[in-house]
Amino acid sequence: MRDLFNKSERERHQFKSYYCLDCKQVKPCHTISQEYCCSCAYQIERERNQEYSNYQLVYQRKIKEQKEHIQQLKLLREYSGCPKCQSKEVDAYSLYEKNQLACQPCRMRKEGGASGSVSFLERQKWYKRYWEIDLVEWLEKYGCLPVNAGCARKWLKDNQHLESCDCLEREAQENYLLFSNSLKENREKLKKCQCENSPKIRVSSDNYAWCEKCGESIPVASKKRVIKNRNDPRFWGLKVKEKVLCLECLGKFAEKMPKRKRYLLGEYLKRYEKRQDF
Ligand SMILES: [Zn+2]
Ligand SMILES: [Zn+2]
Ligand SMILES: [Zn+2]
Ligand SMILES: [Zn+2]
Ligand SMILES: [Zn+2]
Repeated sequence: MRDLFNKSERERHQFKSYYCLDCKQVKPCHTISQEYCCSCAYQIERERNQEYSNYQLVYQRKIKEQKEHIQQLKLLREYSGCPKCQSKEVDAYSLYEKNQLACQPCRMRKEGGASGSVSFLERQKWYKRYWEIDLVEWLEKYGCLPVNAGCARKWLKDNQHLESCDCLEREAQENYLLFSNSLKENREKLKKCQCENSPKIRVSSDNYAWCEKCGESIPVASKKRVIKNRNDPRFWGLKVKEKVLCLECLGKFAEKMPKRKRYLLGEYLKRYEKRQDF
């Protein structure tokens, strides 16, 4: 029994790597992605990068991030250390994601695992080393920070740079273009797509499919890795999100079926009850 389970798990896995990971019904031609068919890959990229879809959005987000980052640095600067262990190292995740100061060594002792740490001293050294600026001076005198290393360099050459600095706009513009160009490229690639659409519902194994409602295993059309018509809701004139259903679960949709199909299903179910291997 265990072997059978492992075997079908393995087959499931092989199937996953062969067909599109998202829709599972298309053999990817690998023009855009290894794991996804071209149209899924394109959709996923669009959705994932929704926040880069227009320049204003990117720009506003950058301003917000910039402000948050400065507040976090100020918070870190005022931190007098952990009352328990006196350490000034705080948990990087809590600081950057939640604006909270949590003692990193204490947290490590309590919860274990590896979490990143950050301290004001370390930040100060970092800015000195990579941007050649004095963090304290910037926070106190200007209440802001250069946008990036390039911006810091410009300021080092010309202290008036801050007044005419458009580095944030540029960076937002670059980010936005990077995304929209990649999307444009992929849209072009879509035209060359040769993904193979399966006319029948594909499944992951030579032997079994799994009902998408109750998880029951269903024998499939032998060695073809497609389900039998009777397990395809479309065959029953149903418009549901599930692609594979067992007969019992199909029974629950009987009322939504055209009359003729409902009758046919009744016949199937009668036979099914008599022979379990049907
Ligand atoms: Zn797909
Ligand atoms: Zn502590
Ligand atoms: Zn600048
Ligand atoms: Zn394709
Ligand atoms: Zn079922």
